[in-house]
Amino acid sequence: MSDLPLLTWALVLAALVLGILAGHFGWGKRWPGSLSKLHPDYLTGLDYLVTEQPDRALDMFLKLMDTNADTIETHFALGSLYRRRGEVERAIRIHQNLLARGELASEHREQALLALAQDYLRAGVLDRAEGLFQQVSEVPRLRASALDALRGVYERQHDWQQALGAYRQLARIKAAPARSVAAHYLCELASLALERGEIDHTLLLLQEAQEESTPFPRAALLRAQIAEREAQPDLAVRLLREALVDSPTLLQQELPHLLNLVGPAQRDSILAELVTQAESRDFGELKRLVFAAIAAGLGSAAPLRASIEKVFSQDPALQALWQDAPAQPERIAQEIGALLMQAEKYRCNECGFSGRSFYWHCPACHSWDSFEAYAIVKLR
Ligand SMILES: [Zn+2]
Repeated sequence: MSDLPLLTWALVLAALVLGILAGHFGWGKRWPGSLSKLHPDYLTGLDYLVTEQPDRALDMFLKLMDTNADTIETHFALGSLYRRRGEVERAIRIHQNLLARGELASEHREQALLALAQDYLRAGVLDRAEGLFQQVSEVPRLRASALDALRGVYERQHDWQQALGAYRQLARIKAAPARSVAAHYLCELASLALERGEIDHTLLLLQEAQEESTPFPRAALLRAQIAEREAQPDLAVRLLREALVDSPTLLQQELPHLLNLVGPAQRDSILAELVTQAESRDFGELKRLVFAAIAAGLGSAAPLRASIEKVFSQDPALQALWQDAPAQPERIAQEIGALLMQAEKYRCNECGFSGRSFYWHCPACHSWDSFEAYAIVKLR
């Protein structure tokens, strides 16, 4: 929406207002007669919109709201469009103005409160948004939307306990998102407990996370951290291997960590196992493994040699590189490795946010489990 040029936006808005009014007053034969019933200031407001004077148009519409109760839906639509366009202050003015009307029907009042809460959320005024969403969550017909929005507010505040509380309330009315979201909240709480050195509490939270979603590689990785702290390297290695089998997207991040925990002989058997597993899935999986291995400086490891040749000779995006120097897979791997060192390492599959750090929860679009190794995305 925010990419629309101003004139296009004004025309869309004018069409919306006219469309709603047409629906309200009726098209066809009745239209010319009904049009004469329209307050003339409405047409002036539309004129301001198409002549790119949005503030004057808004003043006009807000003034009309006091005199014409029939156009309330138009104001909701207008407020929502302003918010989606990022013009949150205008959206807030519309919704506050609606709420200031003494004669507003209760369903419209509740709808206006919800809209105002969404405006504050969009503006980043989280405490006000939270208060209003809580108020609206008492209204049965708006409860699911308000609780889900509250869950989002708590996520933004990193208040995982409250986010989990909102999730549980949503689950009770069968409106919760995937259970992996609750498992992530429990893992966030487990990470904090682990930082405080509360091992027993951490283990309990991880167990709860596994009950929400199994397998859950993030919980396995945290459990592996505890095993490492408690000098149980074999357990840590087993957990990390399981996590990588369950979630190959973690290879780039966790493969070097896993290989640091083992000696050279076990390293080769782990790599061979990963190759067998990737081969049994699909070519994309093998490519993911090869890139993770190259990024970890394993471009010349014996168990990977055949896979590197296969990926470079068969992948459409890499074939040119291979045709230039087919006999030098190690040199190609070195060059790719050097490129990967400089590149941004991860990217969100949902919104494209990229950077050198891996996130379970995208800081830009707030999706869970959306991060992928950047090179894989780029060459897919
Ligand atoms: Zn994102």
